[in-house]
Amino acid sequence: MSITELADLLLQMGEPKFRAEQLFKWLQSGVNSFDEMTNIPKNLREKLSDISYLASVRIVKRFESQYDETVKYVYELIDGEYIESVLMKYEHGYTVCVSTQVGCRMGCTFCASGIYGLTRNLTASEILSQIVQAQKDNNIRISNVVMMGMGEPLDNFENVSKFLQLVSDKNGLNIGLRHISLSTSGVVTGIYKLSQLNLPITLSVSLHAPNDKLRSETMPVNRKWNINALLKACRDYQKVTTRRISFEYALIDGVNDSPECAQELSRILSGIMCHINLIPVNPVKENSFKTSTTKTIMRFKGLLEAKGMTVTVRRTLGADISASCGQLRKKAKEERLYANLQ
Ligand code: SAH
Ligand code: SF4
Repeated sequence: MSITELADLLLQMGEPKFRAEQLFKWLQSGVNSFDEMTNIPKNLREKLSDISYLASVRIVKRFESQYDETVKYVYELIDGEYIESVLMKYEHGYTVCVSTQVGCRMGCTFCASGIYGLTRNLTASEILSQIVQAQKDNNIRISNVVMMGMGEPLDNFENVSKFLQLVSDKNGLNIGLRHISLSTSGVVTGIYKLSQLNLPITLSVSLHAPNDKLRSETMPVNRKWNINALLKACRDYQKVTTRRISFEYALIDGVNDSPECAQELSRILSGIMCHINLIPVNPVKENSFKTSTTKTIMRFKGLLEAKGMTVTVRRTLGADISASCGQLRKKAKEERLYANLQ
């Protein structure tokens, strides 16, 4: 709840409205019960716990990378579902990669998150709580957020926009919207809705292929909204927000990493103020995709740069701890299914 919503609730309960700000601060500090809210009178704490619950996520597994400071969390939700988040350290501070749904219904063939389809949307507080708990667990301040965990954020629009409002509130985590990226597989209607909010967040678009034939093979969303429709939405988004768009391109060996693909990619993106982020695909057990060789990746990058595009290759952090989309939740779910069978 926002401070205004908390104030309304308190008024309905016959309580003073100034408590809203106190409550809001507690909610964003990661307390596990109302009893920890020491400046709230005991009778109000009891009344609150009668009518409401704290939707925080609980750490069930924590994996630390041996190579870098990446930490991967498996969190349990109040209904027993699992989600994942990753904490990463960069020169400019700590970034958390959050999930926005339990599972995903978009079905991209290279991704582990969609294997069981969509179970449910995360609430705004469950998205927020992933940051709060990682911050508390490491005693640090998180300054950046990427919505690149499990789920399609624009398929959970209301809760994601509520989350953006909560996380950037100066009485709470106070993470500026300029420090937040939202990644989408290309839900065109969602891009238009987002542009109406005109937020200074970074929009990341998972393109992964330069033409409809290739893209539809790995990303079923492309059959609903093809590249033309997607790039038109991006151009319109850019007109409204004047923000640079980031295009994600996961390089898969022998699938989308040829020089022709690079030429085609630079052609379709020309005229869009953008940044291309090349991602060496992270192999997932359930498919046979292989990562492109470093030589191929550098050739691809060089071809794009020769066309004047801004390109980076994503560092692969936490490769030893399955720190990519959906892999651990799937494992946790399978282990539990297995335990239940015994
Ligand atoms: N659903 C949103 C955000 C979550 S996925 C989206 O698809 O954009 C975050 C990013 O991880 C996306 O760019 C996605 O394409 C990428 N991704 C998924 N599985 C991957 C894998 N096995 N290797 C590399 N990137 C992957
Ligand atoms: Fe969903 Fe994104 Fe994974 Fe595609 S890549 S299945 S949209 S989480």
